[in-house]
Amino acid sequence: MRFVFLGPPGVGKGTQAENVSIQKNIPHVSSGNLLRVAIKSGSEIGIKAKVFIDKGLLVPDSLIVSMVVDEIGLSRYRSGFILDGFPRNLLQAEILDSTLDEQDKKIDKVFYFTASEEVIIERIAGRRICTSCDMHFHQLYKPPLKENICDKCGSNIFQRKDDNPETVLVRLKVYHEQTEDLIEYYKRNKKLIEINCNGSVSEINEKILSVFDSFVNGKMR
Ligand code: AMP
Repeated sequence: MRFVFLGPPGVGKGTQAENVSIQKNIPHVSSGNLLRVAIKSGSEIGIKAKVFIDKGLLVPDSLIVSMVVDEIGLSRYRSGFILDGFPRNLLQAEILDSTLDEQDKKIDKVFYFTASEEVIIERIAGRRICTSCDMHFHQLYKPPLKENICDKCGSNIFQRKDDNPETVLVRLKVYHEQTEDLIEYYKRNKKLIEINCNGSVSEINEKILSVFDSFVNGKMR
């Protein structure tokens, strides 16, 4: 099964993707994480991408598309994936569909996460990430067991540079200008399921799992 998690930055889709991935044993692919790994490795793509990420802008399609397409082509994603952060514009969505189509595969459902702008800004302010394994935390909703230390790998956790308030405003603007078009695209293709995220992590998780189970049990097409 192949799912896309779509929504504005900070809505909580990364946290939900991580949780559902573990609960349902479906690999999670985050385009943001792939880019952060490339930056950490010092690769040419990473160096180029960092300039855009730090400004809150989308990385050019020429850098990100092949990275994601190559990743989901790996054998570990043969039975499916949860794609988080990709696609982010119409061209990416069309390339994703045609790539899957060539392999006789398709995106089954797109979970579209919504929340008020106040909730989003508050969530981003408390967001922290592990320097080493990219595990996500939140000062209020998902604090690490030990202050500033990752529960999973023991490395330090930090605030992403692009999570500062000015960059967040740019990212929200970019989302409205470029990514929101995807809502109509997936609605037309009858794949969109809206999940309101003005609740706790576990409440939102329950909503996703209930939709997920109806889909898997064939009650939803
Ligand atoms: P995220 O971790 O999904 O919030 O992504 C962090 C940053 O990586 C974004 O603000 C973009 O600069 C870049 N990025 C991630 N995914 C994409 C994508 N599909 N297309 C273009 N840029 C992306």
